[in-house]
Amino acid sequence: MLKNLVRPEREKIVEHEIEFLYTEDDGSGFGFPCDERGNVLDAEMTKEAWENYRWCLEHPEKFAVYNEMKTRVRYYTPNAHGTCVCGAEVELYDQYMGACECPNCGRWYNLFGQSLVPPNQWKNWKNGVYGY
Ligand SMILES: [Zn+2]
Repeated sequence: MLKNLVRPEREKIVEHEIEFLYTEDDGSGFGFPCDERGNVLDAEMTKEAWENYRWCLEHPEKFAVYNEMKTRVRYYTPNAHGTCVCGAEVELYDQYMGACECPNCGRWYNLFGQSLVPPNQWKNWKNGVYGY
């Protein structure tokens, strides 16, 4: 069994974007990351993105949707994790048949953090009897 098992809560992720969509109705255009007040996030913008943003602002006639903020909400649940008997931190995810391997010592765990025999021994289970 993994020690210190942590089951993270679902996280709400809110993302804002300034959108410019072309008049031609193909849904293409530009989106620039911004904060909840519509300020473009410099840290997430490349030099080319800033050039595109300035170009968009200078050409309102090109866009059906011009300089409008759009907000998206998504939810994300990080994988549970815990400490292996070897001391390494193990992230519980479906690496193989609902189980995963400690990256340090190679022990196997199910997604509840319970120790398992390695998958190469699973085929030996027959009628509930484990045979070596
Ligand atoms: Zn380990």
